[in-house]
Amino acid sequence: MSLKITLGEMRAAGARAVLVYCRACGHGTRLDADRWPDDVRLSDLEPRFTCKACGARGADVRPDYSGGQRDGGTIYRR
Ligand SMILES: [Zn+2]
Repeated sequence: MSLKITLGEMRAAGARAVLVYCRACGHGTRLDADRWPDDVRLSDLEPRFTCKACGARGADVRPDYSGGQRDGGTIYRR
């Protein structure tokens, strides 16, 4: 299930990071989304990942809406 939203839309919705899950083994990681530009879709990122645990290519990428905080502080963007 791929999400067709862009990173810009995701950030506008309050997510600052993405959760990446391996489709093969379920290994997951959280990545700061600041590295990608606003016009990149989450579904565009999915084929780019290679699992560090099992080596499988492709992953599920989801917005991390819990990631409004960084270094223990709350960031309010407007
Ligand atoms: Zn894996």
